[in-house]
Amino acid sequence: MKLQTTTSHEFANAKYKCAVLPVGTIEAHGTHLPLGTDNIIPDHIAERIEKEFGDDVLVMPGVMYGHTYYLEKWHGSINIPTPVLREYLVSIGREIKRNGIDKILFLNGHGGNDSVLYDVAETLSYEGVTSRIISWWLEYEDEIRHIAPGTGHAGEDETSLVLEASPESVDMAHAHDGPEWPHFCSVSLSQRDKIVPQGVTGNGTKGTREKGKKLFTLITTNILDTMRELMESE
Ligand SMILES: [Zn+2]
Repeated sequence: MKLQTTTSHEFANAKYKCAVLPVGTIEAHGTHLPLGTDNIIPDHIAERIEKEFGDDVLVMPGVMYGHTYYLEKWHGSINIPTPVLREYLVSIGREIKRNGIDKILFLNGHGGNDSVLYDVAETLSYEGVTSRIISWWLEYEDEIRHIAPGTGHAGEDETSLVLEASPESVDMAHAHDGPEWPHFCSVSLSQRDKIVPQGVTGNGTKGTREKGKKLFTLITTNILDTMRELMESE
């Protein structure tokens, strides 16, 4: 069930086992992917979750502005400071609990939100909420590389996924082949141009809709299993 289109009466009679909250950001993704890439991907996954579980889950409208300091210098990025995002997400979690749901799947679309989400989940756990955070590119990294080896920010994986979810918003004529995202790097704004030149890591030029279909199947199949476990857990 989608919260956005559910009536209060329907909600009162529902027995949701879990809430799903997509969390993304508005951030530059090279010169070929839309600023909303990190919202488009989790929203598309959430649609599939809703189709599978129907009335058992409450799919919520996403939190579309996230913490995005590293890419803020490129046009169109909107950076929300960590404490603001944290309080906002904790407040949403508390409201979910107050409405009778004590399990939340945070469907994350953006790396800059990771640490905030773990902090939010920890706070909510003291208030009786069980959370699971899924950052798809970390969770299924090895399998994703089999399909799209040039992974990265606006790389082969994200490009393929957006080509499947929102093909009209991709401009492949401006796709780039960027460096690999380093496993460890200094926290330094002065090094951004070297680490993420043009706002890209990985190879966006290799993205295809076909790979996007395979990636969504891989990611969604795994997430549906996780959801089943979460809904059956104590
Ligand atoms: Zn992204």
